[in-house]
Order: sequence, then structure tokens, then C-alpha cells
Amino acid sequence: MTQHPAAQDHPWLVAGAGLGGLALMHAWSLHPELQSQPLTLVEQSLTLSEVGAGVQLGPNATRILRQWGLEPALRDLVCQPELIQARNAQGQVVGELPLAQAVEQRYGSPYWCVHRGDLHRVLLQAVQQSVQRGDAQALQLGSTVEAVKALPQSEGSGLQVGLRQQGRELEFVKAQALIAADGVWSAVRRSHWPHSVWKDSDQVAYRTLVPMDQVPPAWRAARVQLWMLPLMHVVAYPIQGGRSLNVVVLLEHQGQGVPMGWDERPQPQSVQHDFERALAQCPADLRELLACAPEWRVWPLVAAHPLQSPADMAQGAVALLGDAAHPMLPYMAQGAGMALEDAQVLVQLARAHARAGILKADTLFEHYAQARWARCARVQRKAMRNGHWFHASGVWAWARDLGLRSQAQRIMDVPWLYQGTGADVASG
Ligand SMILES: Cc1cc2nc3c(=O)[nH]c(=O)nc-3n(C[C@H](O)[C@H](O)[C@H](O)COP(=O)(O)OP(=O)(O)OC[C@H]3O[C@@H](n4cnc5c(N)ncnc54)[C@H](O)[C@@H]3O)c2cc1C
Repeated sequence: MTQHPAAQDHPWLVAGAGLGGLALMHAWSLHPELQSQPLTLVEQSLTLSEVGAGVQLGPNATRILRQWGLEPALRDLVCQPELIQARNAQGQVVGELPLAQAVEQRYGSPYWCVHRGDLHRVLLQAVQQSVQRGDAQALQLGSTVEAVKALPQSEGSGLQVGLRQQGRELEFVKAQALIAADGVWSAVRRSHWPHSVWKDSDQVAYRTLVPMDQVPPAWRAARVQLWMLPLMHVVAYPIQGGRSLNVVVLLEHQGQGVPMGWDERPQPQSVQHDFERALAQCPADLRELLACAPEWRVWPLVAAHPLQSPADMAQGAVALLGDAAHPMLPYMAQGAGMALEDAQVLVQLARAHARAGILKADTLFEHYAQARWARCARVQRKAMRNGHWFHASGVWAWARDLGLRSQAQRIMDVPWLYQGTGADVASG
């Protein structure tokens, strides 16, 4: 089908300047063969704040950040934990997985813990530099994507994307393509995939950052520490170059009444009471750590049915990327990793298409979705299974501990995930 000549002038839009959207912009800007196709990134927030807490980056994710040349900017901001240490409800260590040199040796790249705000800032600076250099990129803040539909046939192929600038009427702009990286509550996904099953999980995460000099000495080590209790677990690890300990408490059956958002106070009172009751069942030394929290923030966890096919990730000239495509429970610590991989794969495929002289959104997105959906679905499923084991009680908890005590490396390591990179998937 011939493309309407004017349609080629319309931009490719990227929705959402979170980790995935910025990663895509940065990776795209690294390759001269993609400069003929400009990307415009639109973000709903007027200012990009550094809200958030810790994210873990497995070697599959750090390998990509290294390839993008971001390691020097991140080096002083990340922490490289020596091991993951798993404890049961009695506080006994039941399994350990060495990280640090062991992961570097095994997978050729490190395991990092980082404040989301630090990683976000490094990606944003890289994108801003490329915009200043005059690369074919634009960043438009304070613009919310609300809808997407096909252009009328009389106007050729392409999309109309409904954008609302703050305080203005909805305005439809023409675009050749839309890559939606607008996060777990994606408006594009709701608009373009109205039947996708996607819901609050009845689970919530409470997070706090404790300055390291206020952390009890026993918990200051460079470790990812995990406590598994009935219907809840707790994770703690250092971030910000070791200056803070990130602590997250994840609870089941608490979703009701917790507002949507990343930076909410634990309200209403009932939510606060449930949280306090959950903390009371923790072993005494963990309670001592949790008591150091200066304040808590809460967010509801979103879960989707695992992706079923490539059509769940891309249709025509619209593609989903990161949490918009595959929201997952954080029990594999791969939300950021999968967004970075998506960006890497999309860019690698775009380069191959550009070199072959056929950079068309619908074909590119079809190949992208084919390369990504099964791997992302596998991570979504594994995250759900981990939740069952982390929150087990009774005989199931006993069986879990027995398994971990005898085969921790086999159970806790994830070679199929850590060995892969977005690039391998794209070329494989
Ligand atoms: C403020 C914030 C704090 C977070 N804190 C943590 C944390 O502490 N720990 C953790 O594990 N994960 C956190 N996350 C989630 C984490 O960043 C993602 O799970 C993961 O990195 C995948 O990234 P993403 O790009 O798909 O989504 P996100 O990083 O969530 O980015 C989505 C972006 O899209 C923008 N957006 C949303 N809707 C629209 C729209 N309709 N139009 C235009 N723009 C839109 C959002 O403002 C945001 O900038 C946080 C996300 C956000 C937005």
C-alpha cells in the first residue's frame, strides 16, 4: 500500500518520559541510521520529579546500560550487593545467592541497586543532551495522551493522537506511529486494547528510605535482604551509593482504599492499621529496622494476565513498551529491566529495518512484539509464582525453606533471564 506523501512528515510519538520512554529516546539517538526518523516524547508531568525509591537491575539490564555508555554516569549512584539473603518468618537465613563478582563472572555484567530517581535523571540528561545537539528528537512536557485512532482514509495512513496540554481542550495531532511507554495505568492501552485484563492486584507496597547512619548496624551490609512471612514479605537493599537503605514491605489483601499513584501517604486509617498489624508479626530484629523508617509511602500493585500473543503488545502503528505492555508484580525485580530490554530490542530492530530501507512502523512493531512477548510473559508468570512462595505459610513455607536450604543457587539464580539481552532477542 502506498503511503500518503504528507503522512511521512508526521512524527513518531513516544508517550511517557519514565524509564522506558527515556531509554528508548536515548538508545534511538545513538544511531545515525535512525536520525531520518524523528521521535517526539510527550509526558504528562510538567516537571520530571525524582519521586520513587529503589529499583534492582539484574545483569540483563546493566548490560544494556553499559552498551548505551551510561555506566560512568551511574557508577557512584548504584550499589553492587554482595549477595541476596533470604530469611523465613522466624528470621532464619534459608538461602543465599552470591552476586557481586559471581554475577559478573557468570553473566559478564553486574547486579545493581539504584534509586529510580537517579537512573531517571541519568537517562533524562542523556536525552536532553541529544536534543541540544540537534538530534532528531523533541521532548514535550505537560502533554497527556488520552486517545488514539486511525486517520481517516482520505488522509492516508497514520494515526490521530488525542493530546491534552494542561488546562486546554483535547487536541488531535497526526502521527505516523505511537509508542506508548505511559506506565502501569496506561491510557493508550485502555484506549487501544479495551479488552485487556488489567487490574489492581489486592497487594500493596509500602516503601521508605532510611539514611544509612540511622540503620541498625546488623542491617548495613551491602546485601539484598529478603524476609518471607505469611501473606507478606520485606525487601531491603542499599541505594544512592550506600547512603540510604531502601526498605519495601509488600502485603497481600490490602489493595482496597489505597490510592493510585507512586507517592501516597498510607491513608485511610484502615490502611494504616492493616500495615501496623502486619508489621507486628515480623521477627524482633526486623521490627527494629522497620521502626527506623522516617515515613512510609504506599502504592497499589497492578497485575495483568501475562501476555498471550504479539497482538497484546503491538497493533498496526501502535506499540506498547515497559509497564504499559506488561505490568508485573515486583517479585522478580524486573519492571525496569524489561522496559530497558523493550527499548533495546525496538532500537536494534529499527536499525536493521532502516539499513534495509524499510523503516515502517507497523512492520517494525510486529517484529518487536514477536521478539518480546514470550519473554515478558515468562517474567510476568514467574513474578506471580514467586509471590506465592514468598508469602507462603504452614507446610508450604516449610517446603520452600527445605528447598532453599538444599538448592539455593538453583532456585534463586535465573540464567534464562540474566543471560539474555534485548540485543540477543532481536537478532536471534
Ligand atoms: C513517579 C514514579 C515513581 C516510581 N517509583 C518506583 C519505585 O520506587 N520502585 C519501583 O520498582 N518502581 C517504581 N516506579 C515504576 C517503575 O519506574 C516502572 O515499573 C518501570 O521502570 C517501567 O518503566 P515504564 O517506563 O514502563 O513506566 P514508568 O517509569 O512508570 O513511566 C511512565 C511515564 O509515563 C507518564 N505518563 C503516564 N500516563 C501518561 C499519559 N497518558 N500521557 C503522557 N505521559 C504519561 C508518567 O508520568 C511516567 O513518566 C515508579 C514510576 C513512577 C512514574
